Amino acid sequence: MKRVYFDHSATTPVLPEVVEAMIPCYTKFFGNASEPHTPGNEAFELLHKSREVIANAMNAKPEEIIFTSGGTESDNLAIKGVAESYVEKGDHIITSSIEHPAVRNTCKYLEKVGYRVTYIPVDENAVVNPKDVENAINDKTILISIIHANNVVGSIQPIAEIGKISKERGIIFHTDAVQSFGTLKIDIEKLNVDLLSMSSHKLHGPKGVGALYKRKKIEITPLMHGGEHEKGRRAGTENIPGIVGFAKAVEIALNELDKKVKKLRELREHLVKGVLKGIDDVLYVGHPKNRLPGHASFTIKYIEGESIVLELDAKGIAISSGSACASLKLEPSHVLLAMGIPPEIAQGSIRISMGRSNTKEEVDYFLEVLPPIVERLREMSPLYKKGSGKGVRS
Ligand SMILES: *Cc1c(COP(=O)(O)O)cnc(C)c1O
Repeated sequence: MKRVYFDHSATTPVLPEVVEAMIPCYTKFFGNASEPHTPGNEAFELLHKSREVIANAMNAKPEEIIFTSGGTESDNLAIKGVAESYVEKGDHIITSSIEHPAVRNTCKYLEKVGYRVTYIPVDENAVVNPKDVENAINDKTILISIIHANNVVGSIQPIAEIGKISKERGIIFHTDAVQSFGTLKIDIEKLNVDLLSMSSHKLHGPKGVGALYKRKKIEITPLMHGGEHEKGRRAGTENIPGIVGFAKAVEIALNELDKKVKKLRELREHLVKGVLKGIDDVLYVGHPKNRLPGHASFTIKYIEGESIVLELDAKGIAISSGSACASLKLEPSHVLLAMGIPPEIAQGSIRISMGRSNTKEEVDYFLEVLPPIVERLREMSPLYKKGSGKGVRS
């Protein structure tokens, strides 16, 4: 069967060039980078070069990059690390209501152990208003953490403006840039961020590796205690193959960034037009323009997103629904609810996230198979009045 992969916000395939860069790190350059002998030095050299690539990608200094096991660890390290380090100064954290669970649940955990967290609302396009962030600041605020590009609906947040406010008020600012790094241009000085999370597997690198950018003057308590790896900020023998693969993926992503963005935007426009034309009672959700270029999300009334995902899978197309599917309870995403979408409509959410090798033919195939699937599911839906062509809201 023809297979179409439209779920790049969940993960991406590792590029052959990346695998090729990684293999010698398992076999030839297998040394422990902490050891002073030749195999150790060879590993250290690879680690150092990779750190430079990632630092350069965002206008940071190599010593400001901490390698981690991925986006989740980077978010945890940033948020818990600051919370613990600055507890004397205050106990208040500001975040948005549309964060990835890696940030959201870290904040929920901190609430349990005594911190106070303000969850800033968003508008109907899932965008935070910097003024709301500013108004939430009090004299106990130690950290602001706002996602760069949202994973569910793709909306890009006004990070530079929020960064400016944080800087003026002397508050540490973290952004989860896992969805944007490698797709949007990132300059930590222009964005005014102090901490920034990245993950390799969202940009065609291997899984289980990521990084946290940490501005030099910011203190963080480590999550991992052990050896002096990563200057004591993250103990554990470095995952050299993963780190080298991550750096290679970043290099490739930056080289093709403009071309990729242009192509993905065109594919997206084509897809969105086709969906809105081919299906009734569908909403294009997230910011219409200021969003991840290959990302489109919709709510399709009267049916469940999960059912669409399964039906499309049977046709060889992999997309995602906006439900918190990990829990198996089909709960609508907190992101959609935060946008003011009623739960019964949020149930019908789907996300299409395209990547560098997707084609117009694949989008056409999707546009061909989706409408009959929607029609069939609606025929079975108790919320949909058969034959009228229009649904009846319960
Ligand atoms: C995928 C993702 C994460 C988690 O990254 P992992 O490397 O899978 O742990 C965090 N934040 C966002 C926005 C993501 O999309």
